[in-house]
Amino acid sequence: MIVVMKAGAAKKDRDEVLKRIKELGYKPHVIHGAIRDVIGAIGDERGKLVLQSLESMHGVESVVPILQPYKLASSEIQKETSQVKISDQVVVGGPQVIVMAGPCSVESEEQILESARQVKASGAHVLRGGAFKPRTSPYSFQGLEEEGLKLLAKARTETGLPVVTEVINPETVELVASYADILQIGARNAQNFALLKKVGQCGRPVLLKRGMAMTIQEFLMSAEYIMSEGNHGVILCERGIRTFETATRNTLDLSAIPVLKSKTHLPVVIDPSHGTGNYHYVAPMCYAAVAAGADGLIVEVHPDPEHATSDGAQSLKPKKFDAMMAKLRLFAEAADRTL
Ligand code: PEP
Ligand code: MN
Repeated sequence: MIVVMKAGAAKKDRDEVLKRIKELGYKPHVIHGAIRDVIGAIGDERGKLVLQSLESMHGVESVVPILQPYKLASSEIQKETSQVKISDQVVVGGPQVIVMAGPCSVESEEQILESARQVKASGAHVLRGGAFKPRTSPYSFQGLEEEGLKLLAKARTETGLPVVTEVINPETVELVASYADILQIGARNAQNFALLKKVGQCGRPVLLKRGMAMTIQEFLMSAEYIMSEGNHGVILCERGIRTFETATRNTLDLSAIPVLKSKTHLPVVIDPSHGTGNYHYVAPMCYAAVAAGADGLIVEVHPDPEHATSDGAQSLKPKKFDAMMAKLRLFAEAADRTL
């Protein structure tokens, strides 16, 4: 349920409402608006009638149900896009389109430092790189693990770029969070509920990828798992879904952008690299994503894609990434955003 406070309601009235929500066994979540505050009361929907009684409290204007099963993620609770702060300079969900770029996997010190320097020079805001890799085959490169995290931290110190890297199980959330600025949940783990809960308990922003066979509703329920544990810094990432089409690795669902924008206040990032699986298709999908209202992009860039340990075929060379960024500025401008 959503408790809508009257415009200019006193803080003591709001505190009384918060206290009562807790007494009734619900979790309150306050959203401060310019004119009024609204309070989400999250918990078992069977208590609707009890919560309705809050309407008689001082300072309360109305109590209305949240119709969607995802409560904290729903645009019913908040209309404006949530701003997820990564650093003093980088905010996802604000006026600036945020570009995260770097190799699929961290392979060596030289490779990640070179990638970081190059993507920074082209205007990227965040460095990506996998240290724990969720590979389809157990015989494929599994990542440099903690050594990879240390190299990412080194690249951050050198370039000032915050880093996003994947966490693949609950046991390593704290370790990864001690190095990373954004925790990535990969498509293969998008419904690993133990992992979602664990990242929900950690203070770091989360880039949640859509599972390859996930509906939008399931995607938002996964975001709700993270948020319901107290972590509201969730960024949604569309990275392509499985369809009958084989000309591309996945089918990048760009219609997910306006659909998600209508259903949730969480920012939306597009991954055209995994979405298409082919570097030739990456730039056009970047332009289309920004034109359609994406809040950011995550793009694989590798200094030597022919010798990459993973996803070389979909990785842009730094020069191509640079050209893409130059053109992307025009699309960002047309969409009333900065880059
Ligand atoms: C990745 O970002 O390298 C990755 C494995 O992505 P996804 O989970 O979308 O396949
Ligand atoms: Mn990859």
